[in-house]
Amino acid sequence: AAGATPRRLSPRAAASPTEGDARWSDISSYGAKKKHRVFCQLPNGDWALCTVLTTSGDESVLKVSEGKVLRLKTDSLQPANPEILDGVDDLMQLSYLSEPSVLYNLQYRYSQDMIYTKAGPVLVAVNPFKKVSLYGNEYIDAYRNKSMDSPHVYAIADAALREMKRDEVNQSIIISGESGAGKTETAKIAMQYLASLGGGSGIEYEILQTNPILEAFGNAKTLRNDNSSRFGKLIEIHFSTTGRICGAMIQTFLLEKSRVVQCAVGERFYHIFYQLCAGAPASLREKLNLKKVDEYKYLKQSCCYSIAGVDDAQMFRTVTEAMNIVHISKEDQENVFAMVSAVLWLGDVSFTVIDNENHVEIIVDEASKTVAELLGCSIQDLNLALSKRHMKVNNENIVQKLTLVQATDTRDALAKSVYASLFEWLVEQINKSLSVGKRRTGRSISILDIYGFESFDKNSFEQFCINYANERLQQHFNRHLFKLEQEEYVEDGIDWAKVDFEDNQDCLSLFEKKPLGLLSLLDEESTFPNATDLTFANKLKQHLDSNSCFRGERGKAFAVRHYAGEVAYDTSGFLEKNRDLLHMDSIQLLAKCKTSLPKMFASKMLVQSDNSMSVPYRSSAADSQKLSVAMKFKGQLFQLMQRLENTTPHFIRCIKPNNLQLPAIYEQGLVLQQLKCCGVLEVVRISRSGYPTRMTHQKFARRYGFLLLEDVASQDPLSVSVAILHQFNILPEMYQVGYTKLFFRTGQIGKLEDTRNRTL
Ligand code: ADP
Ligand code: MG
Repeated sequence: AAGATPRRLSPRAAASPTEGDARWSDISSYGAKKKHRVFCQLPNGDWALCTVLTTSGDESVLKVSEGKVLRLKTDSLQPANPEILDGVDDLMQLSYLSEPSVLYNLQYRYSQDMIYTKAGPVLVAVNPFKKVSLYGNEYIDAYRNKSMDSPHVYAIADAALREMKRDEVNQSIIISGESGAGKTETAKIAMQYLASLGGGSGIEYEILQTNPILEAFGNAKTLRNDNSSRFGKLIEIHFSTTGRICGAMIQTFLLEKSRVVQCAVGERFYHIFYQLCAGAPASLREKLNLKKVDEYKYLKQSCCYSIAGVDDAQMFRTVTEAMNIVHISKEDQENVFAMVSAVLWLGDVSFTVIDNENHVEIIVDEASKTVAELLGCSIQDLNLALSKRHMKVNNENIVQKLTLVQATDTRDALAKSVYASLFEWLVEQINKSLSVGKRRTGRSISILDIYGFESFDKNSFEQFCINYANERLQQHFNRHLFKLEQEEYVEDGIDWAKVDFEDNQDCLSLFEKKPLGLLSLLDEESTFPNATDLTFANKLKQHLDSNSCFRGERGKAFAVRHYAGEVAYDTSGFLEKNRDLLHMDSIQLLAKCKTSLPKMFASKMLVQSDNSMSVPYRSSAADSQKLSVAMKFKGQLFQLMQRLENTTPHFIRCIKPNNLQLPAIYEQGLVLQQLKCCGVLEVVRISRSGYPTRMTHQKFARRYGFLLLEDVASQDPLSVSVAILHQFNILPEMYQVGYTKLFFRTGQIGKLEDTRNRTL
């Protein structure tokens, strides 16, 4: 048997999980028989379940639906599972695990509002885009007292709880999927189940109330999802030794900062901007000098101010109520909203050109006055920070005047930093409120809601980071599943050396290797003042061209072969986003402010940077030598992985059945692509390469024993089973005999079932 570390399959062998599927031609001895159920591919690429009417030569005539008949090549057909397996609640029960079978089974269930299905140890959740009656106290109780056991988030949460208590091991629930697939809702459903256990002192209610706050500040309407999380989140829920909830800790990842100052037409900026403007009471409105949402320059860019079915004013009340519950004082709340208003007004700050070199100063108007007032600085200080830059060149302090473009960038960078600092500060306050302190003795369940693998027409720095994270999570997933498989085989004494699965270590090395990996090279290039996105791209090509997971493309582009497929990245903006500069002048402006939050933000920024106050001006563009964004993210990711390594994981894969956010529409192509990306087909594939069908000797003998043509000397289940295997000519490489069970490769039981059905 192989060692404990996973063995590698040939690179990218998993790219086509259906490879080696039992095509019709392989089992032609059973034949495309009359009345057989098969899948055929329609002209639009979808698979349809149909019945064979007749076969002649290499063609079959199929009945696709009432009155619709097709003639197709017999070997283009895929066998369908017997009717008895329609809609099984675990994909592993399917005899044929082909793509069409999996798609059909999920669709069959989805059409009956059974949105949850197991794929072995993984829970697949297909977004219903409508209210389904599967939740609430009745269901929670049913799962708790085991009167219900169909696949459900509640069942996963319950398993996590039980295993936490039984094994005294921390647990994790890892939720992934594309934007809009239902991760955040699923995370909330899991939290609901755990919270229903109660804790005492209302801590469980407090934990649930963190959701509206974080969603207000970290979610936004995008084209894919009206309530899209623009950050990743881990919430660790702590339990006392008696098994009650006693606290929680939240960690967030990579908030999308750019959404503070720009977003695409039809999308929105962060919810809180709209909620504040719509819902602030008159006194607050006056104090913060709030306008209508369509009067702010930032917000006007997207031409979208409301979300169908959402009342922003009402949401504002929900958010402030939630803030009360997590003990954010009224005074702090007002400070928070002052920062939100300051960010909005910053977008309205404009500049006037003062010389013929296009240098600028800010215009003193309502916008600049309001920003200065809300931050607590003078208008002169604000002007200085936004129109000039102090630098040290050859040991000499010089002051550079900024052009209109530079000043606008500086202004936007300030807005982004203030907002991102505010978000971090809020998370900190929440954590303080939910903290169990050092006294904690019990265990925890962590819920991870993190963006899934992304591949768009144009992929930038954000996708680069997100996909890197997913590559790490995928490895975690693979290793866990492999371990599970291995344990079951070993327990039953079978030789599992033939079980192969894909490891993505090569791709991870491409990212992480030092000094010649993607991340190191990005960081190195980010420190060169004269480097550009093009010099970065060229450097990658120069050093990584021989790497099998890397492919240089023309100009500023390169491609990475991820586990989920190849993604082409455009390096435009990589260096700038990675540096994420906030100039020292801006930090000093915040430090000087009379209000409490900006001061706090500034001191944090100074701790993060290597700068001390005694060296206020630095040369070069990289004047703030803080950790780069990619390095900070990598650090967070490693910390996350370390935390997850010490837990028993439970995986939930969310699937978006259509891009329209509408109920009852199931697009096969879209679903298939996600099943591949989030590793569900990989689970299926792992099982194919192993022995997915398991049956005890007893059950096998009982079920098929009557088909035996000759008497067996001994009537014990094992002897009967072996005799059946021989009679049906099941090849030795297609099964393994364990101590208690028979293990079969995919499709084997299907043949026996067919014969059994015909005989019965
Ligand atoms: P993600 O976090 O993966 O981007 P969300 O969890 O925000 O996606 O879900 C997107 C939308 O899909 C939700 O706003 C909701 O309308 C719908 N949705 C998701 N899961 C469910 C569910 N279990 N029941 C009903 N609607 C859901
Ligand atoms: Mg989300």
